[in-house]
Amino acid sequence: MSGEIILVVEDETKIADLIRRGLIYEGYQAQVANDGPGALTMARDTPPELVILDVMLPGLDGLEVCRRLRAGSDVPILMLTARDAVRDRVAGLDAGADDYLVKPFDFDELLARVRALLRRRGARVEGGATEVLRFGDLSLNSATRQATRNGRLLDLTAKEYDLLELFMRHPRQVLTRDVIYDQLWGYDFGGESNIIEVYVRYLRSKLEANGEPRLIQTIRGVGYALREE
Ligand code: CA
Repeated sequence: MSGEIILVVEDETKIADLIRRGLIYEGYQAQVANDGPGALTMARDTPPELVILDVMLPGLDGLEVCRRLRAGSDVPILMLTARDAVRDRVAGLDAGADDYLVKPFDFDELLARVRALLRRRGARVEGGATEVLRFGDLSLNSATRQATRNGRLLDLTAKEYDLLELFMRHPRQVLTRDVIYDQLWGYDFGGESNIIEVYVRYLRSKLEANGEPRLIQTIRGVGYALREE
């Protein structure tokens, strides 16, 4: 543990303080911003290794903060959303969040998510040599984390990129939902989530933006596979 900097964005001071103290106890460095503009300033002045971001913030809401953070950075973002607000979760992912946690949450659960996100980031940063993966007219560069289709640069969020990379490392193989959950989030969702469907939909819309044929196929009842139709 190297005391990663975690930015906590939450206007409810009791919750913010609870999270901050818990993170410090676990060996992280925690910074708290109580509103959106403050969060953006802090993220610029001291780039964090991870952001915990509440959706419900006064003024600039968490979704907008997420979009603005995402515009200049691929820092992992964990969104905190209201219970059962499915629309918030989807909107959060749409805004570029990597994961979400429903309030009220268990602190151990928060820590598990934080560790999983930091682990993925670490694996990425220390990934080593540049690799270029290809499949049909798709190409992906592991160093720049850029992907193209037929030469067209795809504007992918961090998570969409990770999903595409997972498919490209296992071409023509059927990836079950469990495998995808585990590889992308590092823990079990418990099966209730439609998060993979949401990501596959986003990714397809970007891969097929010019009417190209579908490459990510649904394998009904099982999962997905990268292959020609
Ligand atoms: Ca709040």
